[in-house]
Amino acid sequence: MTATKPPSPMMQQYLAIKAEHADKLVFYRMGDFYELFFDDAVQAAKLLDITLTTRGQHNGEAIKMAGVPYHAVEQHLAKLVKLGCSVAICEQVGEVGAAKIVERKVVRIVTAGTLTDSALLEDKETNRVAALFVGKKQSALAWAALESGEFRVKIIEINKLVDELARLNVAELLCDSHFRLPENCPKIPISRLNSWQFAPDTAFKLLTEYFASQDLRGFGLDLDEHSAAISAAGALLNYLKLTQNQLPPHMDALTLETENQFIALDAATRRNLEITATLSGKKSPTLFSVLDECVTHMGSRLLAHWLHHPLRHRGHIQARLDAVQALISGNSFSGSLQFVPSPVLNGGGLGWGQDSEDNANLLAPESATPTPTLPRQSGEGASAAPPKMYPHNPQSREELSGSLKHIPDMERIAARIALGTARPRDLSALRDGLLVLQKIRLPNSSLLDTLAACFPQTQAVGELLQAALLPEPSVWLKDGGVINHHYNNELDELRHLQTHGDDFLRELEQRERERTQLSTLKVEFNRVHGFYIELSKNQAEQAPSDYQRRQTLKNAERFITPELKAFEDKFLAAQDKALALEKVLYEQLLTQLQAALNVLQQAAKAAATLDVLCSFAHTAQQYGYTMPQFSDGAELSIVAGRHPVVEQQLTRFTPNDTRLDSAQRVCLLTGPNMGGKSTYMRQVALIVLLAHTGCFVPAEQALIGKIDQIFTRIGASDDLAGNRSTFMVEMSETAYILHHATPQSLVLMDEVGRGTSTFDGLALAHAIAEHLLQKNQSLTLFATHYFELTRLPEKYEGAFNRHLSALEQGQDIVFLHNVQDGAAEKSYGIAVAKLAGLPPRALKAAQKQLKSLENQNSDRQLDLFAEPEWDNDEDETEHVSGSLIVEKLNSINPDELTARQALDLVYELKNLLNK
Ligand code: ADP
Repeated sequence: MTATKPPSPMMQQYLAIKAEHADKLVFYRMGDFYELFFDDAVQAAKLLDITLTTRGQHNGEAIKMAGVPYHAVEQHLAKLVKLGCSVAICEQVGEVGAAKIVERKVVRIVTAGTLTDSALLEDKETNRVAALFVGKKQSALAWAALESGEFRVKIIEINKLVDELARLNVAELLCDSHFRLPENCPKIPISRLNSWQFAPDTAFKLLTEYFASQDLRGFGLDLDEHSAAISAAGALLNYLKLTQNQLPPHMDALTLETENQFIALDAATRRNLEITATLSGKKSPTLFSVLDECVTHMGSRLLAHWLHHPLRHRGHIQARLDAVQALISGNSFSGSLQFVPSPVLNGGGLGWGQDSEDNANLLAPESATPTPTLPRQSGEGASAAPPKMYPHNPQSREELSGSLKHIPDMERIAARIALGTARPRDLSALRDGLLVLQKIRLPNSSLLDTLAACFPQTQAVGELLQAALLPEPSVWLKDGGVINHHYNNELDELRHLQTHGDDFLRELEQRERERTQLSTLKVEFNRVHGFYIELSKNQAEQAPSDYQRRQTLKNAERFITPELKAFEDKFLAAQDKALALEKVLYEQLLTQLQAALNVLQQAAKAAATLDVLCSFAHTAQQYGYTMPQFSDGAELSIVAGRHPVVEQQLTRFTPNDTRLDSAQRVCLLTGPNMGGKSTYMRQVALIVLLAHTGCFVPAEQALIGKIDQIFTRIGASDDLAGNRSTFMVEMSETAYILHHATPQSLVLMDEVGRGTSTFDGLALAHAIAEHLLQKNQSLTLFATHYFELTRLPEKYEGAFNRHLSALEQGQDIVFLHNVQDGAAEKSYGIAVAKLAGLPPRALKAAQKQLKSLENQNSDRQLDLFAEPEWDNDEDETEHVSGSLIVEKLNSINPDELTARQALDLVYELKNLLNK
């Protein structure tokens, strides 16, 4: 038996590193490649479609190996991370070429939630990693976005985890290895931590050391009261430290988020309102895609954040609205547009950036002064305000957007500066961007003034970058050509030697030509062979004796002379020195910039905020949106409201009014399928949502009372992943609403109960509507097919009927999309089925059955309101069960049928016909 050879020193080193990162793919740097070995190689070869080879042996078996070139590593990392893998990047940190094996170390771990490289990130999405701590008494979720320095924590109820993950669009979740995720949890990479990693004392110590503070009270966190939050935040910070190989230096605060900061939207509502993704998961058309006129990626990301985080603080909302108005008017308008009854406007933060606290340190003292009240005005009318005379001449909204176009992704660049990974082109883009920011002149509003104050603070950084960087630095620092002339004397001297070298070479060439009288003689340089004198094949024979052969080509010979060799040594030494010096200077520059991180991050946020506000102003002007008004009551009053997304898809959209208040709080909405009920309900929710993000709204007027949450139960979709049927999804969403909705909530219910049999469904819908009316007392839009429900207003004052009108022309139907008072008279189901292309024979049969049903029921409508009659349902059921076709037709929604299902349905109907 042959003894297996011990592993080579390099393999020993690899195995030691791999043992520490068993759950990750280890990218092991070897020269210009990152290599993967053993199972990692097999996995990567499959996932990345790269070649699997072997190299040497380990324990008697060939070592599997796959590699990627270092310059293409990012695209491979992006792919792996998207597929849910984590990668440990192991670099050569020791000196290459020394006798021993070069030292290597894992310098960072790339995971889905901790990316910072621009190539790995989606431009318009914020990448967040979250840590969940589940305690006996309390649970908490902490999250961070390394790209921006955001670091927050919130005490949550564990049954709201899915909503929170949806709100934050979390890219990676850290949780205890024993925690069982809920079934409907979104599919995101999960990293399991050990329980001890959440220990509150360790977490507290790490956090206080990180923030250099004695305790965390300054962040609103008390070790006893918020120990869950501290555990989650500490575990998260520790994870960031492990993956980045350092504590991220740019997270300057830990913010405790509270429940009542934002209007709550549960995961289903975010989905149903198609805020940033359509129901089918596409990126457009969505509310975001319609509103996103941002010219920077930072702006787009902030807009998406705002849309998912409608504010509740009226002062912050109004500050945004005033800024939009000022940008629209383009003059030096300064004041608040405040209407019925006066909301709290003065003082406090101004709601830019992620939320108000972010700006507390930025508020100019004068912004806390109460702003004067202007007479009521909407969008266009604002120009009527007498423009104040200001010393500066503000740029128009178009000009501002034009300027902002030149601003790079400063937020991400600042993060890379913090982590020491910023590249030369990041810094030159930052320099050019800062120059543009210095010239920005904003119209006046309290928020715009705050933003404007951030830009001049970056002047010193801009000047430093201007002095330090060449106008067009190289892409890679290792190539040199990054640091500016006249920035460092020693560098200038070394460079002089190199440029002077050109003179020397020209002079040498001239001299040697004269000496040898050889016309083809050239003195040249290339990276591989250094300097040489080249002679053509014919003349090479006549080379003087001091010419030593260096290289033979097909048509030429290359030589070196002692003089040229001496120059080459000096030149290359100067070049090496210059490169090394540039590296040192660049690192020094990064350190200097790190000291100015705060200023850069604030300017980045200010630029992003300005971009979103300009985008709001743009859409308001382009689509005729108006400024919403707010009141303190429980009410909602919209005149000529439109659906911001659907109206973009149509040539003519019919605007509709809405009025809900505590007296008339449940609107029962009837009308044919395709009549516009869902659109109408969603438009109301979207108008409310937009108003709370500080955006103008698609309505002639909107008056919005106090709203705490928006709930929706719209559309039916099987939750296949969660193994729940359509009806189950519908009922669990409804249960959630009935448990949580308050008199200040806006609730949209679209055809609840249709997922089960007619009578079950009707009974449930009735009970749900009643619960909303009496128990929850929420402002509710309740679309239903059950005409029986339209009798609810007879029993309850708080309920009223409205319907979407349609015109019947013979057997055809014309939808007017117009919401009118009262209940619909008919459901027009058969006319809609005709539109959907049901065969004439089936239609005819349905019509016949409908007639007979109507006759049978004409003298005795199903009465849900007389309680004893519930007991008679069985008879009724039997009676109706004969009309299977009608029941079948009633139970389907043509819009939701696939072609296959439609065909099956036709066969089914035909079978019923033959019974
Ligand atoms: P329902 O929920 O009643 O079945 P939808 O809200 O889905 O109806 O609307 C069906 C279609 O009608 C929409 O896709 C849209 O094209 C059109 N529509 C809806 N509301 C309007 C409106 N107010 N103005 C013009 N077209 C509308």
